[in-house]
Amino acid sequence: MASIMYNAILLFGAPGSGKGTQGKILGAIPGFYHSATGDLFRALDMNSDMGKMVKGYSSRGELVPDDFTIKLWTQHMAALVASKRLDPQSIMLLMDGVPRNPAQAKLLEPLVRVHRIIHLVCSDLDQMVQRMRLRAIKENRMDDADEKVIRHRFEVYEKETRPVLEHYTQDKIIRIEAGNSIMQVLQDILAALTPLKEAFDLTQEC
Ligand code: AMP
Repeated sequence: MASIMYNAILLFGAPGSGKGTQGKILGAIPGFYHSATGDLFRALDMNSDMGKMVKGYSSRGELVPDDFTIKLWTQHMAALVASKRLDPQSIMLLMDGVPRNPAQAKLLEPLVRVHRIIHLVCSDLDQMVQRMRLRAIKENRMDDADEKVIRHRFEVYEKETRPVLEHYTQDKIIRIEAGNSIMQVLQDILAALTPLKEAFDLTQEC
């Protein structure tokens, strides 16, 4: 059987830049599906060996190993397809939190056609730290509760994740100012994605 090829838009940016917030809203639009690796990891049983391993990395603000991450993501997507909750032909994925380094981008190449990269850019580090602190309380996230872990997450982003941008052709990357209000960021993303989404939906109707 030929392997599945997913169509996707990457939601890209530093921790606290709003990928999850925007992904959840956009994921409510028919034809989009929001998929966040962080959510997948948090849904694991934390008493299982897998859960304990993931918790070890995430509580230190480090990346979970690539092979495990991509395998978990691939299996999760395949299960959605098999149970008919997701039709890869007609759905545009909003990938949030993956790929997180160039090696993951390479592993995803045979599986994912990346149409656009929404790069949420926020120059105000303190604003993002503040967002993460609020999220730690609201969502009971240990990795965002500790200032030292938060700072380390930014270092990991700069060193390991940002180079992912070089993996794709620059005409696919759309920079959006992430320091603005949720509504403004949403409006900017919608303006950038509307022509692509409409063209993609038209190919489904033919
Ligand atoms: P997030 O919810 O995207 O901020 O992710 C929370 C934590 O989950 C990260 O700090 C990593 O430990 C782990 N994680 C999420 N996505 C990935 C990924 N693609 N690769 C490796 N680790 C990840």
